[in-house]
Amino acid sequence: MISFYPGPSRVHDEIPVYVKQGFKEGILSINHRSDTFMQLCEKTVLLLRKKLGVPASYTIFFTSSATECWEIIAQSIVQEKSIHIYNGAFGQKWYEYTKRLRPGAESLPFHPDKKIDPKKLQELSGLICLTQNETSNGTQVSNAILKSIKNNNPGSLVAIDATSSMAGINLDFKNADIWFASVQKCFGLPAGLGLLICSPRAIQHASEFGEKDHYNSLNFMREMMNKWQTPFTPNVLGIYLLMRVLENSRPIRDLHEITLARYASWLEFLSKRKVITHLITTESVRSYTVIPVKGTPEVVEKIKAVAKREGILLGEGYGEWKSNTFRIANFPALKQTEIKKLMVILKKY
Ligand SMILES: *Cc1c(COP(=O)(O)O)cnc(C)c1O
Repeated sequence: MISFYPGPSRVHDEIPVYVKQGFKEGILSINHRSDTFMQLCEKTVLLLRKKLGVPASYTIFFTSSATECWEIIAQSIVQEKSIHIYNGAFGQKWYEYTKRLRPGAESLPFHPDKKIDPKKLQELSGLICLTQNETSNGTQVSNAILKSIKNNNPGSLVAIDATSSMAGINLDFKNADIWFASVQKCFGLPAGLGLLICSPRAIQHASEFGEKDHYNSLNFMREMMNKWQTPFTPNVLGIYLLMRVLENSRPIRDLHEITLARYASWLEFLSKRKVITHLITTESVRSYTVIPVKGTPEVVEKIKAVAKREGILLGEGYGEWKSNTFRIANFPALKQTEIKKLMVILKKY
């Protein structure tokens, strides 16, 4: 089965070989306080910097998921208030989880077809939370808009959920203080590992706040990461696989070009279809990595069934678009031949 689900999605072909080699090397049983682990941890962090362009001054942490990052941010960064600007289910969930821990959380929902106007987001107070790529409806916020929001709010920290875009498109990390993602999306890896990336300002803020009530309090995580360790036994296999995949992956600038070219070919392809269209009408807010396709519920049902028979798994529609959309991942691990195969199926519609 080829999974075009926007996460968990297709993993790189080399994964089974890496797992076998990791087993042979004894990686699957190493102690997370050992030198071997610390070297693995350091090497993986250095590769993330090199391949994704994460600034040297930013600290990279390993978590278990993006959802865990929502909670770490709420407990260790948000003192009173956070402001959540979102247009879909993931941004809303982030808001709801945060509100349970920090009742001062505020929401600023916007329509998926609307582009954010940074001029209307000036001098907000509290942590500004944005979902760069909203996986549920296939929209994104551009680097330029993130930059304006940051510049318009010099007194606030900005946190970005880039779960379904990191490692697929080039993100300008300087435009925010906190970034996070999990690896079962654009990284093309099995689920169970998250990444949290913090600017020096975010680290300093957490340190001044001094929150240390949880096993995953950011202050503990930082103390441990200073020694290339984690407070809990981490997903060692996941980190090892990430290292192996990064070693062989192209720099993000190249991947970005590939993602963009494939996205453009999907747009052109969809523009020629009769009964299916892109869900989002405003082209400038369309995601490069998640393509939501709309049709009648009958057509959507039919397409999913036909694709399944051909060995292709499509992403289900989300929330209010459950029955009249499906989603196509445009992640780097998917192959050109697989995309062609899916296009042959969709061509009839
Ligand atoms: C998938 C996803 C999440 C949740 O990721 P987990 O690894 O399951 O915690 C959060 N935000 C966005 C935008 C996502 O696409």
